[in-house]
Amino acid sequence: MDNITEKLVTPLATDKEYDIVIVGGGPGGVVAALAAARHGSKVLIIEKAEMLGGLATLGMVCLFEPICDGRGRKITKGIVEEMLHLSIKYSYSNLPYTWNQGVDYVKEPENTPGLKSYPYFNIKGRYATIFNMPAFTLAMEELVLSEGIDVIYDTRFCDVVMDGNVCKGVIVENLTGRSFYRGKIIIDGSGYGVVFSRAGVKMEKGENFLTTCFVETDFKSMEEAIKTEDMTCGLRWGGVGYNLLQEGSNISPKKYYGTTTEEINEYVIDSHKAALAHIKTQGKDYAMVSLAGIANLRKCNRIFGRESVLEENAFAFNESSIGCVSDWRGIGSTYEVPYGCLLDTKIKNILAVGRIVSAVGDTWDVLRCYPGAMLTGQAAGTAAALAVRDGISPDDISIPALQKMLEADNVMLHL
Ligand SMILES: Cc1cc2nc3c(=O)[nH]c(=O)nc-3n(C[C@H](O)[C@H](O)[C@H](O)COP(=O)(O)OP(=O)(O)OC[C@H]3O[C@@H](n4cnc5c(N)ncnc54)[C@H](O)[C@@H]3O)c2cc1C
Repeated sequence: MDNITEKLVTPLATDKEYDIVIVGGGPGGVVAALAAARHGSKVLIIEKAEMLGGLATLGMVCLFEPICDGRGRKITKGIVEEMLHLSIKYSYSNLPYTWNQGVDYVKEPENTPGLKSYPYFNIKGRYATIFNMPAFTLAMEELVLSEGIDVIYDTRFCDVVMDGNVCKGVIVENLTGRSFYRGKIIIDGSGYGVVFSRAGVKMEKGENFLTTCFVETDFKSMEEAIKTEDMTCGLRWGGVGYNLLQEGSNISPKKYYGTTTEEINEYVIDSHKAALAHIKTQGKDYAMVSLAGIANLRKCNRIFGRESVLEENAFAFNESSIGCVSDWRGIGSTYEVPYGCLLDTKIKNILAVGRIVSAVGDTWDVLRCYPGAMLTGQAAGTAAALAVRDGISPDDISIPALQKMLEADNVMLHL
């Protein structure tokens, strides 16, 4: 028997009417929810895990990459900057003092303490910080709930219900069963592009090498933390595998992908083996404090948008810009991000946020980190709220009207 036939009658999950349904409560999805709710939309986040934050919390990726351009200018603002401060609201940070003063420029940035584990990236003195992941996820949930956003945990998006190129809602499955959520606009914040994929959209497949993130400590680090009064020394952000320059590891340079469960499974098992091998080299004074509970794949899928972020557009003016990001790997390129990178070429009411937006080549690596992932979240949430208000689809909204709303919310549109 190769197939079975299921007879499914899928009930509506709730009587509540949602304007915007967001699949995935990671950095992109959470910011999209906040932006949409602040503009009057009724928003639901569907999250398969049991906490918000995605890779930023469950994934043990606790460095908020810079929101300045490396030349002393803050360029990614709005909710992204708010989230950077939320990430450190209830715990430690190593945000340079100069950037913590509410300024847009600094002349001589202070050195960032406690970043000994990142010798290969020049983020010293930049508007960036290490954060404590449990404190960040709890702060995010507190904020999201206080703004009237509904969150349903332990619920996996399974499928879309399409009427031509319009999505009418999503089918989910959880402990209660299988059900259907109606939504006027759907935002794909899954990190995998699973909503687009179920809607039949072809995407670019990303290539990954092995990295396993965790937090670790040992007696010496604890002593150093006490001596220096710097918690980031005591709770070190660690990892095994390759850094982004693919150096510093004796683990095989095998390529990994994140487009099927089998591919993700292989990655997860290999990364667990690498973490265990690392533990075995340590003494009894060592402890791995926490291990990623979500695959540390950087690039799984990205859409081919109506517009894209392109390397050749570095430093260039973009008429439909929804905000600016910089290359976090050093004092490098800065980009104005076009609205069209959130939109598929055919589907009318599904928006992309986070690491699945249309960014080509090297710019995919720039956009996928928290500043870019959250910036696209704010733009998508605002665009969706504008579309709901005007009773149109996100691909029909007035871009100048969207830009006006983003500027009013403190987003810097142009460099
Ligand atoms: C090894 C590694 C190191 C990194 N280092 C940094 C760094 O130092 N600084 C930095 O700024 N960025 C870093 N990044 C990038 C950053 O972590 C991600 O690109 C960012 O988290 C993307 O946000 P997102 O919201 O698009 O996706 P995610 O963080 O992946 O969140 C997606 C959410 O969707 C949920 N979801 C997925 N599928 C479903 C489904 N079917 N149903 C319901 N929910 C679903 C997931 O559970 C998750 O909560 C790193 C990434 C990796 C992998």
